[in-house]
Amino acid sequence: MDFELKILGSSSATPAPDRHHTAQVLTIGNQINLIDCGENTQMQLMRYKVKHQRISNIFISHLHGDHFFGLFGLLSTLHLQHRAQPLHLFGPPGLAEILSLQFKYSHTQLSFKLIFHELDTTVHALIWEDKAITVHTLPMQHRIPCCGFLFREKPKLRHLIKDKLPDFLTPPQLIRLKQGGDITDETGHVVVFNADVTSEPSRSRSYAYCSDTRYQEDLLPYIKHVDLLYHEATFLDELRQQAAYTMHSTARQAATLALKAEVKRLLIGHFSVRYRDLTPLLHEAKSIFDNSHLALEGKTISILD
Ligand SMILES: [Zn+2]
Ligand SMILES: [Zn+2]
Repeated sequence: MDFELKILGSSSATPAPDRHHTAQVLTIGNQINLIDCGENTQMQLMRYKVKHQRISNIFISHLHGDHFFGLFGLLSTLHLQHRAQPLHLFGPPGLAEILSLQFKYSHTQLSFKLIFHELDTTVHALIWEDKAITVHTLPMQHRIPCCGFLFREKPKLRHLIKDKLPDFLTPPQLIRLKQGGDITDETGHVVVFNADVTSEPSRSRSYAYCSDTRYQEDLLPYIKHVDLLYHEATFLDELRQQAAYTMHSTARQAATLALKAEVKRLLIGHFSVRYRDLTPLLHEAKSIFDNSHLALEGKTISILD
């Protein structure tokens, strides 16, 4: 099953000539999740050939424009193309009101059901669960209510070792083995030991998206050991005063958090428009946490199981 992140934009505040506002696509199996939706996201979806009608969930971290100004345009396009299937939208208080005003004055009656989930951005809470994954909020510390999102695969089933399976097993018994149980006869005696015919399940993959926030170690217990951490790095550390004042982070701070959380890989983004060349931000992060990367537009990161 795919577990793949695609970057559509990573510019903060105002866009740069070659950088769009924040938006990311996380594909897990055949489920497509859009994370933040800065201006021009629908154009970026087309450019990078993401099937926008197949997006099932949209997660908005906060109501600064660089994270959601593309939402109304995208929803309008889905409507104009006669989308029928429901769409789940997760966002902070106020988002539903903003959208309903836009729909009201544009006389738009959406062709699909928009299911809005209002988030409490101050807590770490389960907001989505299906057969394959869970999504939790990650409380950010920013100038307005803001949260990140933690995507995690559910524990998986054990693998059957085909050569070792007796041929008398029924389909329900095979499912039982996959779930970790032994097979017993009518008297309760074990006739097939699970450990003899199965192997460890594939591991569960995880992605933590830390949107706009000042440096905060409160996140550590939630993001410990994730496969991939995205953390904003608006500034170089020489501007840490400005980062603190605007409630943003520096590349050094993002990398410090990655190191302390012992994550596998760090992706930094939300770059200030002042940085035409992003290399110094990458070098600063790598000096603390070597497996650091830039969230460049068009980049795809696959997490293997
Ligand atoms: Zn921002
Ligand atoms: Zn912001």
